[in-house]
Amino acid sequence: MMRRLLPALLLTIPLAACGGTAGADDGKLSVVTAFYPLQFVSERIGGDAVSVTNLTKPGAEPHDLELNAGQVGQITEAGLVVYLSGFQPAVDDAVKQNGGDHVFDAGSAVQLLAATEADPHGEEEHAEGEEEHEQESTNGTDPHVWLDPTRLATIGDKLAERLGQADPDHAADYTARAAALHTELTALDGEYTAGLKTCARRELVTSHTAFHYLAEKYDLTQVGITGIDPEAEPSPQRLAEVAETAKASGTTTIFFETLVSPKVAETIAQEVGAKTAVLDPLEGITEEGADYFSVMRANLAALTTALECSA
Ligand SMILES: [Zn+2]
Repeated sequence: MMRRLLPALLLTIPLAACGGTAGADDGKLSVVTAFYPLQFVSERIGGDAVSVTNLTKPGAEPHDLELNAGQVGQITEAGLVVYLSGFQPAVDDAVKQNGGDHVFDAGSAVQLLAATEADPHGEEEHAEGEEEHEQESTNGTDPHVWLDPTRLATIGDKLAERLGQADPDHAADYTARAAALHTELTALDGEYTAGLKTCARRELVTSHTAFHYLAEKYDLTQVGITGIDPEAEPSPQRLAEVAETAKASGTTTIFFETLVSPKVAETIAQEVGAKTAVLDPLEGITEEGADYFSVMRANLAALTTALECSA
């Protein structure tokens, strides 16, 4: 009799779990991530114990993401929501209202750098009275933390702890996979340190100032054109100033990114007599088969070429 009862009992358990907040249809922990690098670490650390849904669709610019009702529902129902507070206002709001305590803020795991203002003249002019709309979403901190591989490794370690709390049965697996990812990210950090050690120039001229963490880590100077919001319009004064800086430093390459129009970078490049090249801030994946590591290595190659670094 016992033998017959057991399978029946086992069958009812997964069905009951479906009604719970943490259950995906296949019994995996459902993880909702806000944008690509968080999706990447969640998939790598979660492995086959989780089912990951990313809120920012591939090829979409994540800063100004809008959520539909279904996505807000996913945030409410998720076993864990992985987001970065101060980066996407719509996600911050939804997490505040519907996330409960099943949330992990990647920014809480590491030390964040203060946001830098790319257009100092713009700021002076608007310092009194007017609101700084561009900076509203950033909490005064720069959100592009994933472009420092060592910070991303720390975020991965903390995420593994949080996943282990949400799903204790797989805690050891999460810890082990985070350790493996940490090792890979440390190796990538070593490649960057070595590759950017000896260069003809250290000025990194880029339209969207997403590379503050990368510049700080590898001793480069980021010269930003549009600022933290990639779609902001730089003032003519700022364009002239960046062109001057680029000329003075002998810059041969102005970087732009894949998800936003290269028009601003092209304008400066023309003015300076430089060419343009892609430096991908990894806010989304645009190429089939690419991942965090392949894009970071392509970025390193673009930097060593543009800055004339010797290996
Ligand atoms: Zn950005």
